[in-house]
Amino acid sequence: MTSEIEADLKSFGDKRRIVIEESEKAVVETPVIAEPVSAVSPPLQITVWYRCHGCPTDWDDVMADWDSYTQGLHRVGDGAYAWMQPDGAWGLNNVGLIASKGESLLIDTPIDLPRTRRMLSEMAAADPAAAKIGTVLITHWHLDHTWGTCLLKGSRIIASRICASYMEKNPPQRWLEAAAALEGEARQMMEENLGDKFDFAGVEYIAPTETFEKRLELTVGERKVIVVEAKPCHTRSDSVVHIPDLSVAHMGDLVSSVGSHVGLQYPFMSNLIDICEVLVSFQARVYIPGHGPLQSLQDVKGFIEYLRFIQAAARACHDRGLPAEDAAYDVMANLGAYKSLRHPERLFFTVRMIYRELDGDTEDFVRRSSQEFHATSWRLRSVLPQKFPELYQLRF
Ligand SMILES: [Zn+2]
Ligand SMILES: [Zn+2]
Repeated sequence: MTSEIEADLKSFGDKRRIVIEESEKAVVETPVIAEPVSAVSPPLQITVWYRCHGCPTDWDDVMADWDSYTQGLHRVGDGAYAWMQPDGAWGLNNVGLIASKGESLLIDTPIDLPRTRRMLSEMAAADPAAAKIGTVLITHWHLDHTWGTCLLKGSRIIASRICASYMEKNPPQRWLEAAAALEGEARQMMEENLGDKFDFAGVEYIAPTETFEKRLELTVGERKVIVVEAKPCHTRSDSVVHIPDLSVAHMGDLVSSVGSHVGLQYPFMSNLIDICEVLVSFQARVYIPGHGPLQSLQDVKGFIEYLRFIQAAARACHDRGLPAEDAAYDVMANLGAYKSLRHPERLFFTVRMIYRELDGDTEDFVRRSSQEFHATSWRLRSVLPQKFPELYQLRF
């Protein structure tokens, strides 16, 4: 078992920060890059977290898959790369790179400038086409996927029309001021998220140079790239990316860390299931999630099964007339095979969003009040382990 996993399971806080520092040190000491991940064989070590709907998850099988999840750039196909940041916690996202015939496409950016600089230099060393990033595609407006654009000002920057409007409404300075204005438990939660991991010096708002709606096709060298916009679920507008020639897909935060519960932020669980079905239709060999280790087609199919399970459980509570909060606890008490997934507290918000969808109230979203969202998140961290200790036991 890696120390990253230990830290993650032993949870948040100092232990996690220490491990992240260790992994960053490792990056500095290890020259670069690319694990020799072959496009042909041997196949990627892929995690299958949700495969076992009807039986207990076999965590021993899963452990080996985390071993391929290491800091830095990983080749996942001919000119296709994933730059990954274990342990994939808040702000530690994955970035995609497609390079072909001297052209390059970056899918998302890291959260701050030092991380972006490090990533760009690793990419340039791995593939000459990445020495100058021609195009950046933003999957959604969250800071951990966009703020590195500050170092890519000369590039073509593409986002969906809705995503671009959120980037404009939430520029870095405004976001940082709002975070600094949080009080009490909400402030504690934000400090826990941020820790001392990030350096926001120099971040500024960079407007996308182009926008699209619903679907977009790009060409990168000799590679065709297909972008599909989802309807609201993680944010108001998230996009997924498919490179058919390479059988590689990038899922943004629509499918994030494997082994964790889903945190639905907008009312539409049905939208999330729909876009996951689109991901399955790609029949890709490698799926790059927004956070966490690489996934397989089976993982995505299993995730859909899991989503349907949570959706059905919440709907049953709704039919029984349970209030949303009681329903969230009911779902948590009856997770069956899914009880070993991490972050059960996310279900508190997910069930609320499913209720909104069932009630036809589509205007609510969990971060409408940042103060309330973060304060509730902080409280759940102490309430839920007492209420459901079995959901918070160490599994390794
Ligand atoms: Zn993210
Ligand atoms: Zn996100």
